Amino acid sequence: MTEPKEKRFPLTLSSVVERKENVGRNRIAASVSTQTAMQNLGRDASAQARSHQVSGWSPAKEQKTAIINTSQSPLVSEAVRRAMVARIAQQGVKDQVVLEAMRVVPRHLFLDSGLESQAYIDASLPIGHHQTISQPYIVGRMLEILRNQVKLDKVLEIGTGCGYQAAVLSLIANEVYSIERIKALHDLAKNNLRPMRIGNIRLHYGDGMLGMPQAAPFDGIILAAAGMEVPHTLLTQLKVGGRLIAPVGGRHQVLQLIERISDADWKSVVVESCHFVPLHPGIV
Ligand code: SAH
Repeated sequence: MTEPKEKRFPLTLSSVVERKENVGRNRIAASVSTQTAMQNLGRDASAQARSHQVSGWSPAKEQKTAIINTSQSPLVSEAVRRAMVARIAQQGVKDQVVLEAMRVVPRHLFLDSGLESQAYIDASLPIGHHQTISQPYIVGRMLEILRNQVKLDKVLEIGTGCGYQAAVLSLIANEVYSIERIKALHDLAKNNLRPMRIGNIRLHYGDGMLGMPQAAPFDGIILAAAGMEVPHTLLTQLKVGGRLIAPVGGRHQVLQLIERISDADWKSVVVESCHFVPLHPGIV
């Protein structure tokens, strides 16, 4: 008899629990199922995103078949995540691929267990080292803008933090590179993402203001921290036709969208106000 399809990929419960114990995090059993589903989606999405290039595959459509069983914990259930996505949509985010990716990624698994119950409210939350996981609405908004009219093959994120946005990006781009300047957060993101077995994310510990020349050029660059201006080096690492989205400013910040329109020309527009942690040079 043929194995049912959904049984092909998941890890056994014990292997996931062991993995979690290894990284020293205390998670509830419901999270384990979500994690397993995320593992499947990570694999499926990267494979499917690749086929999208040639066959016009829609990730949003395919991901609807995912089975996420978090019924044991109503605070972190799929229904709560759906409600979060519905609120983001109400605030104006229309891109179904982005909304679907955010419906799928278990945000609570990127937070300390004490904050899990707040994981799906529309707020930034502390992740340690004076940094925050970005507000869901702004993640959706920035990804929607990044994706608009651009096929995201290779994407660079500056400011990995806990790894949440990188996980969402992994479902909408072929290859994701993400840089974090705080070693402890780089390690946290590694530990958060490892059990999800997402094959298309490369985490890098370093100063994101320098970008990643070895992997450039990128179709999209997204900054999760605000500088007084966008580092010129990053602009040079965009493909012609590529887009960069970044918070810019000090006390008052705006989201800036920059498109590279030729080798030597970039076009910039201000999208809306925002509030991010600061972009700092160097590593710690
Ligand atoms: N992407 C995260 C948000 C993290 S907050 C999410 O999914 O929610 C922003 C992060 O940017 C912080 O972790 C901070 O340490 C990092 N950061 C600030 N300046 C940086 C730089 N020059 N290079 C890389 N990371 C930087």
